[in-house]
Amino acid sequence: MYDYLIVGAGLYGAVMARELTDAGRRVLVIDKRDHIGGNVYTEKTEGINVHKYGAHIFHTNDSKVWEYVNRFARFNRFTNSPVANYKGELYSLPFNMYTFNKMWGVVTPDEARAKIEEQKKEITHEPTNLEEQAISLVGRDIYEKLIKGYTEKQWGRECKELPAFIIKRLPVRFTYDNNYFNALYQGIPVGGYTKLVKNMLSGIETELETDYLDNKESYNAKAEHVIYTGAIDAYFDYSLGNLEYRSVRFENETLDTPNYQGNAAVNYTDRETPWTRIIEHKWFEFGKDEEGNDLLKTVISREYSSEWHPGDEPYYPVNDEKNTELYKRYRELADREDKVTFGGRLGEYKYYDMDQVIARALDVASHG
Ligand code: UDP
Repeated sequence: MYDYLIVGAGLYGAVMARELTDAGRRVLVIDKRDHIGGNVYTEKTEGINVHKYGAHIFHTNDSKVWEYVNRFARFNRFTNSPVANYKGELYSLPFNMYTFNKMWGVVTPDEARAKIEEQKKEITHEPTNLEEQAISLVGRDIYEKLIKGYTEKQWGRECKELPAFIIKRLPVRFTYDNNYFNALYQGIPVGGYTKLVKNMLSGIETELETDYLDNKESYNAKAEHVIYTGAIDAYFDYSLGNLEYRSVRFENETLDTPNYQGNAAVNYTDRETPWTRIIEHKWFEFGKDEEGNDLLKTVISREYSSEWHPGDEPYYPVNDEKNTELYKRYRELADREDKVTFGGRLGEYKYYDMDQVIARALDVASHG
């Protein structure tokens, strides 16, 4: 008999497993996939750590979380500075003086502010959706070229139907600063995320290709308590109907060229280009292998967003009103499952970043 069965070997599950093991509990981790790491999983191709489920750039303001992850990996000094490609015009992200200069020719912060003030006049009340929020932050020009198409591709919904908080994730700065995140700490684990998670799970029993939902009762019988990090609606067999997720599909290509796009991430912000972004993985590690040699080839991933259907991997919860309501009803069911704790992006149906997932797991582990 185990003290804890942890369902899912992603970040939430791995942190829980580490903390509970270190507190003297007997822990078993299971995952339905054939690898650990959940969606932060990386796999080496041509000497390049490929982010198989999309780009993950670790960033946090929480020094406790930063110290914690640094116990399991060394982090490099990667700083995310994506470039937006709108029909061949290139803009710096996040929205900052470089973006404003390119969009309007303005040079000083005062000139940029004046432009935005002028354009945001069309929003006369507190923004209630992503479109209004975006226009009131950066004006209509930037909304039209850099936000609308990208967001509607990513979410498959009109900006008017999406919650305002999604766009508040992005900083708006009146300085010449292309750092995408307002975070004190940022970087990529040297050697990849899989290595980080492997170190977290060191010495902990882990069974892969083991699907908890295939036989919940018999797995439950193995432990006093279960930490479930899968989708909350799947746990309840979609009995109240399914929550909506966005899924992502990647087309990966190895190219016989050392430099395809000159940056880790290029966002395609027009509506017509079918992919949302192209990731060139080698730039997360400055184009070098672990010995510091230049890599001669490159691996790129075109990322396509799609609506989730049963059988697809869920990536992003759609936190609009309808789904938030339905989640609340699932949450009530979950609260009645005495033996089971639901956690992580899928277990809590929340657009968590990696550091938030870790902070949450550390908190739950210390109280649970
Ligand atoms: N976003 C945008 N244009 C961009 C990049 C981001 O409008 O070029 C907005 C968009 O609404 C998106 C949100 O910011 O849904 C978060 O995007 P990001 O790519 O940072 O999300 P991730 O997939 O990395 O979590």
